[in-house]
Amino acid sequence: MFFLNLPTMDMDINIKENIDNIKRSINECASLWERDYHDINLIAVSKRQPKEKIISALKAGHRLFGENKVQEAFEHWSDIKPLYDNLKLHLIGPLQSNKVRDAVKIFDCIETIDREKIAVKLSSELKKQNKKIESFIQINIGEEEQKSGISIKEFPEFFNFCKNDCDLDIKGLMCIPPAGEPASMYFALLKKIAYSHDIKNLSMGMSADFEKAISLGATHIRVGTKIFGSRNYNIQE
Ligand SMILES: *Cc1c(COP(=O)(O)O)cnc(C)c1O
Repeated sequence: MFFLNLPTMDMDINIKENIDNIKRSINECASLWERDYHDINLIAVSKRQPKEKIISALKAGHRLFGENKVQEAFEHWSDIKPLYDNLKLHLIGPLQSNKVRDAVKIFDCIETIDREKIAVKLSSELKKQNKKIESFIQINIGEEEQKSGISIKEFPEFFNFCKNDCDLDIKGLMCIPPAGEPASMYFALLKKIAYSHDIKNLSMGMSADFEKAISLGATHIRVGTKIFGSRNYNIQE
């Protein structure tokens, strides 16, 4: 691969160390809570990070990444992704219906299915592009007015709609707990909802609270700053 021949830089070492440290924590949490380490997937969230840092993570052998915007995912990944068979990209930000077509082109999993319009559009786009991707339903776990996600009350019906009417492969649930509150209660609630619907995967936990999320059943943790450092908020959106 073209950039794997580049010399190792300080940044590469830092990012590799960060990833190794998080993996060590995942391992420790897994054994503490008697979970299988392999059931916990580390999604490296590369939104608003420079491409050099992404390349450092790739050099470190990491292959699972998350982006929160379709447009930025293309900027980051359109030339890199075809080089790796085993590279997986998750969409972890809200999806607009006019972006579904592009999202299906670049993502392997969409974690933020949260309304009928998107489910229908995704379903028809998957057929058109003859693609299969995994989906997670995002739940507005804190019932916050401005947050994305289906409400807890509407979830059961929406889940059936996604499965039965749209033929979507719903692999899991995703949530972002309210800011400034202890997340544990919300993680536990997401787990309860998932288990009562026989849903196996839980995307929850970020840099600040992924250990807690693992203790409560997370199968996918989404870690940005603890891998890549602080984000660049000057990048135009
Ligand atoms: C940005 C983002 C993350 C990563 O957050 P960090 O605190 O940097 O680890 C995780 N999940 C979602 C949905 C995000 O938008």
